[in-house]
Amino acid sequence: MDNVRELALEQARLHGASRIDGITLRIGALAGVEPEALRFAFEVVMAGSIAATAELHVQAVAAEAFCEPCHLSFAVESGLCECPRCGAISRRLLRGRELELASLELV
Ligand SMILES: [Zn+2]
Repeated sequence: MDNVRELALEQARLHGASRIDGITLRIGALAGVEPEALRFAFEVVMAGSIAATAELHVQAVAAEAFCEPCHLSFAVESGLCECPRCGAISRRLLRGRELELASLELV
């Protein structure tokens, strides 16, 4: 969350914004982020900055893994990366662990 703050404030500075009105985060289904905890952390981290009153928006990213033998990418349900075709457990997660800045509303 600290690097999200750094990135957001840097973008605001580059664009000469005086305030950040909204911040959209992209969050993977397997990022291990609780929405409640996230909102709390967001408020704490942004307090005292030009993003203190920013609204937090969350863009959920579904988890997706890739099976090497099948060359198949598939949706991951409930954190289990099991290939629906061959049953192998995939170690390659394509998406689903991200916690990153998607967009900003600058004023
Ligand atoms: Zn497979």
